[in-house]
Amino acid sequence: MAGVVVNTLTALHPGATIGILGGGQLGRMLAIAAARLGYRTIIYDPDANCPAAQLANEHIAATWDDGSALDAFAARCDVVTYEFENVPVATAERIAALVPVRPGVKALAIAQDRLGEKNFIRDRGIATAPFLPVDDEASLDAALADPMASGGAILKTRRLGYDGKGQIRLKPGDDISAAWAQMAGAACILEGFVDFEHEISVVATRGLAGEFRAFDPAHNVHRDGILRTSTVPAPVSDAIVSEAGRIARAIMDGLDYCGTMGVECFVLRNGDVLVNEIAPRVHNSGHWTEAACLISQFEQHIRAVAGLPLGDPVRHSNCVMENLIGEDVDKVPALLEDGDCLVHLYGKAETRPGRKMGHVTRLSPRAEIG
Ligand code: AMP
Repeated sequence: MAGVVVNTLTALHPGATIGILGGGQLGRMLAIAAARLGYRTIIYDPDANCPAAQLANEHIAATWDDGSALDAFAARCDVVTYEFENVPVATAERIAALVPVRPGVKALAIAQDRLGEKNFIRDRGIATAPFLPVDDEASLDAALADPMASGGAILKTRRLGYDGKGQIRLKPGDDISAAWAQMAGAACILEGFVDFEHEISVVATRGLAGEFRAFDPAHNVHRDGILRTSTVPAPVSDAIVSEAGRIARAIMDGLDYCGTMGVECFVLRNGDVLVNEIAPRVHNSGHWTEAACLISQFEQHIRAVAGLPLGDPVRHSNCVMENLIGEDVDKVPALLEDGDCLVHLYGKAETRPGRKMGHVTRLSPRAEIG
């Protein structure tokens, strides 16, 4: 095996192999960053046509519970990382018994359950939206009557929700039987509706020895629960920027995290910062870094999991990243004609409504580098 890790503080040598669990666009962009640093990549994803496989050295198309395929994958990798948070914990544990998995299994397990995630964040002294666990119609009824829900609330499945999926907005007096029926028995939480001023995210990286680098927070705008744009700098004070960085660091230190993480936050009108959720992986709201920073979130992640020094996350330009969702991809010829923006497509053959097909980043000069 090339580039054997002698101990966990030894950097992988060029030619070593990084395994990536998940083959979506995030895995694809990680594979590009890994290649630039001289590494080989193997994608593990059940989908034979997944975007990342087009750019990796190898692809193992097997199910998440295929023990022999997982063992064969682990045997060919020097380190394994993941690009989506719903990789089954048992899958990651099986691999971790054979080869280092970075970030660890703990981050995966915490991020897969909204209740555990929120408790973990609160235990670190970090504020979240108010929430109550909901396991049946009676507990939904009680939670909706709680003062935290007086301004409205959002019922969210504890597991497998993303891009606003598995969520229902409710207000006191709504027909809770219908809402609960839609959840089909899934364990949930009810979150009080937060009347935030801005949604921001911090994308940050923690290295193998605990070093920490944060990119500037992005201001995120969602439509239909899907991220539309990330704008940097975010329209928030320096105090909020440093508070967001402090929060990200406290969460990542608490997980003994290795790699890049996205921390989504609500900023209130009084300047308070609440954490909405964490993503234990590179994050859509960090795609702008490939255009506006020397070192992207993807390269930072690869550096971290390979045990290399982290790069400088300084931003040389202001920017707006826009996701190309569904038919937005038809705008690509005009965007290319424009000549003044960075277009990145994910190699997805079929355009579907709500499907992330690519993104485009526009730069503008940064007034001063602080
Ligand atoms: P999530 O899947 O939890 O990231 O939620 C998707 C989007 O719904 C967020 O980016 C917010 O725009 C909105 N949202 C989620 N939770 C809340 C909340 N407690 N209060 C207000 N808006 C929320």
